[in-house]
Amino acid sequence: MQPLICVICDGLPDRPLKQLGNRTPLEVAKTTNLDRIARDGISGMMHPVDIGVRPGSDTAHLAIFGYDPRRYYAGRGPYECAGIGMELQAGDVAFRANIGTVDKDCIVLDRRAGRINSTQPIVDYLGPITIDGVSVHLAPGLGHRMGMVLRGPGLSPNVTEQDPHRTGVPIAAVRPLDGTPAAKQTAAICNEFSRLALERLKYLPLNHERAAAGLPAANAILFRGAGTLPEIPPPFTQRYGLRAAFVAGAPMYRGLAKILGLDVVDFQPHDGVTGKPDSNLEQKVARAVSLLADYDAVFVHIKAADSLAEDGNIEGKIAFIEKIDRAIAPLADTGEWHVAITADHTTSSQLQQHTADPVPVTIKGDGVRTDDVTAFSERACAHGKLGTIRGLHLMRILLDLTGRLPLYGA
Ligand code: ZN
Repeated sequence: MQPLICVICDGLPDRPLKQLGNRTPLEVAKTTNLDRIARDGISGMMHPVDIGVRPGSDTAHLAIFGYDPRRYYAGRGPYECAGIGMELQAGDVAFRANIGTVDKDCIVLDRRAGRINSTQPIVDYLGPITIDGVSVHLAPGLGHRMGMVLRGPGLSPNVTEQDPHRTGVPIAAVRPLDGTPAAKQTAAICNEFSRLALERLKYLPLNHERAAAGLPAANAILFRGAGTLPEIPPPFTQRYGLRAAFVAGAPMYRGLAKILGLDVVDFQPHDGVTGKPDSNLEQKVARAVSLLADYDAVFVHIKAADSLAEDGNIEGKIAFIEKIDRAIAPLADTGEWHVAITADHTTSSQLQQHTADPVPVTIKGDGVRTDDVTAFSERACAHGKLGTIRGLHLMRILLDLTGRLPLYGA
């Protein structure tokens, strides 16, 4: 059985743009290697979550991995927290958090404290805080970001966000979203934690240095995206009988894959794997290829086409697509592995948001029935013989093509 390598290009597809002569960035970009894979394989279109559903990256990835998001979606917080190495337990409520700057009246002046480069001093200074038998844990993420986990009995993720998502307004009071005692208690603990953190961060030694350097104070923890693991999903390895690894730079995707039980590959800073347009994609692909010696399936996530489209940066998106194309050259050349290329959703550069348009998918490898598609694009793949599938079908198709799908019936 050939091993499988699947590349998920975040937000790669787009809509036709007038300024590109009604072509998409993927159609305009020079993509020799992606086109070769399409030519050598079978192509089609995929509704990542469902027809007419605008997927988040998290729900789309769950579906692509074969886990129905309607059942297994945990909310953004748990994925971000797991992605930065926090261990989650059943019943925990996890949030994404920032260190920000507020004035004496708790008006938010800067949601990122001047894009501070590390929150480790804040995490160390505050330590775990216990309120009414519930412990609040923080861990540093990238730059101004943190993870925050509430652990204790009787908690609920059904609470509003404390981060107001904009400046010039006060920190929001957290409110329960339902009438349960758990939601009420969680909201009360969130508000008490918010108050205690503000009080204590007034004395953070780092803020004396920051004031002297003219930098905004790191004096408020802003949190959002409450979530909990509704049900621990059956681990990927067990579910499919596959040893699977995941290669990604951005924490949310790493956390999601970790929760599903894939082995998530670690990178060092000098690897240059950042999840941003400057990410070292050759390094990612090389690492993924080397993992095929030990794994049955390796999934690679490439982020920046999505972020560039959300910034409306059409030229940047085209250039990044060409960068992806150069990086995946080793996958176009080989006949040794099954190779699948797809995306988690469409990101419209014009609307600067995800849309529900289906995404192209192409698969090549031993035994694949090829079709007449010769280019990897939204329009070309729509003519492919894979037809139009849903994200939840992809794993089954890949398992079948690689000879690993169990028989249904006798
Ligand atoms: Zn995405």
